[in-house]
Amino acid sequence: MTVEIKNRTYKNFINGAWTESLSGEVQKSINPANYDEIVGYVQISTKDEVDQAVSAAKVAQKSWRKLAGSERGAYLYKAADILEKRLDEVAETMTREMGKTLPEAKGETARGVAILRYYAGEGMRKVGDVIPSTDSRALMFTSRVPLGVVGVITPWNFPVAIPIWKMAPALIYGNTVVLKPAQETAVTAAKVIECFEEAGFPAGVVNFVTGSGSVIGPSITENPDVNGITFTGSNGVGKGIGQAALHRGAKYQLEMGGKNPVIVAADADLDLAVEATISGAFRSTGQKCTATSRVIVEESIYETFKEKLVEKTKDITVGNGLQDGIWMGPSASEGQLNTVLSYIEKGKQEGARLVVGGNRLTGGEFDKGFYVEPTIFDNVSSDMTIAQEEIFGPVIALIQVQSIEDALALANDVQYGLSASIFTSNISNMLSFIEDMEAGLVRINAESAGVELQAPFGGMKQSSSHSREQGEAAKEFFTSIKTVFVK
Ligand code: NAP
Ligand code: MG
Repeated sequence: MTVEIKNRTYKNFINGAWTESLSGEVQKSINPANYDEIVGYVQISTKDEVDQAVSAAKVAQKSWRKLAGSERGAYLYKAADILEKRLDEVAETMTREMGKTLPEAKGETARGVAILRYYAGEGMRKVGDVIPSTDSRALMFTSRVPLGVVGVITPWNFPVAIPIWKMAPALIYGNTVVLKPAQETAVTAAKVIECFEEAGFPAGVVNFVTGSGSVIGPSITENPDVNGITFTGSNGVGKGIGQAALHRGAKYQLEMGGKNPVIVAADADLDLAVEATISGAFRSTGQKCTATSRVIVEESIYETFKEKLVEKTKDITVGNGLQDGIWMGPSASEGQLNTVLSYIEKGKQEGARLVVGGNRLTGGEFDKGFYVEPTIFDNVSSDMTIAQEEIFGPVIALIQVQSIEDALALANDVQYGLSASIFTSNISNMLSFIEDMEAGLVRINAESAGVELQAPFGGMKQSSSHSREQGEAAKEFFTSIKTVFVK
């Protein structure tokens, strides 16, 4: 299927040219399903490359912003067509580089194509409003202008969709970009950039620099010519970026962690709730920011629900995501696997009861991968570490409650507020949940993961900087409003 040159070295893309880092150093990117397999090599860049990329983006922005929105849109449509043509290859690279199953990787890549087309169309839509002036002979209206150069810093869990859902709106509204992807998935990101290159964007409009976040991340966030920073990743890193941006007056947007609950009411369709909990918690090996990690269940149906959930969990096939019939792949890296295993250990120490899973998978091909069993704990109380901290792995904490009021109180008893679900057939439960759940995304009779590209996405509390991405909401971040008065 793929014309892949194995062990290829991927370069930075700066001012329209693929260039090697001045450091002369590269890093290998490996397959978490088989750590002997090298997916490719990527540059370990220095501050100098970031500075070059930002300078190129600054120059290019002057003419990019002058194009008509429809002209910028034409480039995005072209990038979408190219990514669509390369979908199988890009998806396969993603599976090999971070482990999610091939059908999931294909779904994500197709979403990338759809996002590019959605924002290409934005180039033709309105960017302001006419506001009646108190002076009857004056014209007053708002317009939107680009920020300038936008730094895009992304995680490894959605290596195609997240860079695209940040770059596409940045570009359509007239900004130029410097992308720094997670080093863990930089090969997949490089292939996305190849699609932009082939689409013929003018030099300097799209730039790409790989390297360690702790080294070149600050070179982006502290560069005075970077006017906006959009970040998705962990809370610790996000807060540092927010502080750096605030310090020099740059606009910033942070999308961070979650500890997403599912409430199962006594009147729920239990089969549906089980199905959605499994999918929300274990798809992508639990490595979605919207993954289900706490399942709060009403007492009267607790045992029945648990039994069904455990039975289904035992059916999950774990293995190399490129193979047919595999439902769940490995953790994305050894570090991630170790984090998950240490949370499982903590769960046991703090008195939660392991119902199913809990181990690293070993033997045969498992020995060369970062595989962990889908895991369920019960007897969990809300103050335990596994009920409070983001694990980012296939681990469910089951919590029993007496009432929906208690369920909602516990659902809100965390620092995060990204997504949440309830399963119920009772309208009053639904309304309480919509009203009282502190989360940016609330879903009823549907799993906690699931984001539509045309709708706003983002979290409350510590899950975000309270801005929203995707859909029309992206316009808020990637532009500034200018109020115009004409007399
Ligand atoms: P991470 O460690 O915070 O890394 C995210 C990005 O920041 C990477 O590109 C990383 O580079 C870079 N980085 C690291 N240190 C930096 C610094 N000091 N300055 C600037 N950039 C720096 O997060 P991750 O482990 O990749 O991703 C998992 C996290 O992302 C989870 O917490 C998850 O909930 C969150 N997430 C949130 C959403 C959402 O929309 N809310 C979506 C997906 C994921 P390197 O990794 O290359 O060093
Ligand atoms: Mg990281």
